[in-house]
Amino acid sequence: MKVNYIVVGSGIAGSVLARRLADEKNQQVLVVEKRNYLGGYCYDYRDENGILIQKHGPHIFRTESEKVWRFLSRFTEWEDYQHKVLTNVNGHYYPMPINLDTVNQFLGTSYTAETVDDYFASNRTNPTEINCVKDVIESQIGPEFYHAFFEKYTEKQWGLSCEQLPPEIVARVPIRKNRDDRYFTHRYQALPKDGYTRMIQNILDHLNIHILLNTDYQDIKDSIECDHIYYSGSIDEYYNYCYGKLPYRSVTFQFETYPIEQYQPVSVVNYPNNYDYTRITEFKHFYRKKTANTVIAKEIPGSDGDPSYPIPTNENKELYNKYAAIPNEKVTFIGRLGEYKYYSIGQIVESLLKGDLPY
Ligand code: UDP
Repeated sequence: MKVNYIVVGSGIAGSVLARRLADEKNQQVLVVEKRNYLGGYCYDYRDENGILIQKHGPHIFRTESEKVWRFLSRFTEWEDYQHKVLTNVNGHYYPMPINLDTVNQFLGTSYTAETVDDYFASNRTNPTEINCVKDVIESQIGPEFYHAFFEKYTEKQWGLSCEQLPPEIVARVPIRKNRDDRYFTHRYQALPKDGYTRMIQNILDHLNIHILLNTDYQDIKDSIECDHIYYSGSIDEYYNYCYGKLPYRSVTFQFETYPIEQYQPVSVVNYPNNYDYTRITEFKHFYRKKTANTVIAKEIPGSDGDPSYPIPTNENKELYNKYAAIPNEKVTFIGRLGEYKYYSIGQIVESLLKGDLPY
């Protein structure tokens, strides 16, 4: 069998790329997906009560890019959604990211937007260089908030200490002096009206796109010829771990159903200091679904299981670069696993819509 392109993986990266190839090159694209469903880590499904469950944890679409927004809007309508997160420290809920209310509630103070800088100024540290997560947080707000809100969450999540992890890990979590309690402030923020799976099905719905589910690329690679491969799986796996395993963090989701209307006040509550889970997601909040039952997922990070997060330490980036430098005209690596980048959905789509397709 012969096709023009093989795209490995039907997550957001593989799907967007497949669609561009189908639209712009007008050639045959085969999408190979090892799971029995489309969507990769964005996969969601409706449970018996009609609640959309995100099987691989909370995915909140946001972007500054009008181009990205317009592209995805061809394939879905949107549900307005502003993500709000609380964090549970010592049994109390606080707004996350840290804002003026978090500071006042945690310290029992009554700073205003004008005076809160007094607290920041007298508590923040002054490292000569910002080299790690600890430096980023302590240099903004000081050790007390770092210990209570970041230190243990980050260590649980990444399996490394905050001194070992680079600043970029927490770059997406601001510290605010105002009362804005949105997790993200992007120009566009929403959820696909009928879920991510439906949006991805629509992206892949094209006469030039053919899909093989339940198929490991390794099993078909010798029987299907193609001109070029776009690979969204782990790059080290593709090369049979020839330079050793690239560390990725995995997450296990423990789903629980309760015969109550609401388990927690918002869709995501973080648990930085206790328990082996980092956060609990209650799915019905995303689409404001009214049901008698509710479904939650506790998120337990670990090093076994499907790779979810690249761990961007310098050492790991060097190992990635060794893999990426292997001469290979035939394959382009894309997405969070293929490029070993801590991308959000919006960032992945933006990166894949840039420029002309090289192959
Ligand atoms: N983080 C933290 N405490 C929190 C929330 C986030 O220490 O309450 C740190 C942690 O290192 C986390 C990173 O900030 O991995 C990025 O957080 P985000 O919520 O963006 O993580 P994601 O949704 O990508 O897992």
